[in-house]
Amino acid sequence: MIRITHLTKYYRAVPALQDFNMKISKGVIFGLLGPNGAGKTTLISILNGLTPFQKGDVEIFGMSLQKNLRQIRKRCTLVPQSLALYENLTVMENLHFFAGIQKITGSTLQNNLEHAISVNRLQRVLAQKAGTLSGGQKRRLNIAIGLLNTPEILYFDEPTIGIDPESRNEILETIHSLKKENQTVIYTSHYMEEIEKICDEAAIINHGEVIRQGDLKTMLHETDDSTQTLNLESLFIQLTRDNQEGADA
Ligand code: ATP
Repeated sequence: MIRITHLTKYYRAVPALQDFNMKISKGVIFGLLGPNGAGKTTLISILNGLTPFQKGDVEIFGMSLQKNLRQIRKRCTLVPQSLALYENLTVMENLHFFAGIQKITGSTLQNNLEHAISVNRLQRVLAQKAGTLSGGQKRRLNIAIGLLNTPEILYFDEPTIGIDPESRNEILETIHSLKKENQTVIYTSHYMEEIEKICDEAAIINHGEVIRQGDLKTMLHETDDSTQTLNLESLFIQLTRDNQEGADA
């Protein structure tokens, strides 16, 4: 569904992604795990056509991203990190407003609304003003808005930054429940435990390069003393520590 080959991105002289290769299949909840500055946001921005790149190829739905950006974007949603909703409108009014912008009408609107509401467990708060919702409910409304156009790929860029543990768990549960629907999700985080909770596959990235990628369960257990292969958790702890020491030096 997504194939990235030899992707290279520089911000002036700063390398953000270097000879970056990755494959993501349909229906997978894919975690992009990396310490600060690893290149996660840059990658998500490129995949959403928000940031240009210098070298390499990105194919989504079998189409070149550079040549078919508009068609690809119609089939994907990036759920914004900050809340994009109207506090003075009710939950239902917000959903209708954002559906209207996207010209979703008739029976499609009905079906998509029902789906977005039930996945995000918003049935009981539909008549409530968005400004009166709890933090977790607001985040779920944000996701519901993102689901209105039934995207084939849903991107989340560190959606739990700066929120309380309860809201964080609510978001993780909601995203995890999308697995049953065969939804493809790309989820970035620098928390190992989040990736463990919701993802099927993952990649660790650091300094713009893929360090390891594959099936999450396999990577969590693979340890080989003879080749000094660390399991995913130990590898991530080591990378984070090395980066911290580099920053402190
Ligand atoms: P974080 O978890 O801290 O958000 P990240 O993994 O999302 O980090 P990016 O934001 O993609 O990482 O940054 C990758 C590298 O590119 C970093 O070295 C960063 O300083 C640099 N970078 C990102 N955006 C810009 C920009 N607009 N101009 C210059 N350099 C940038």
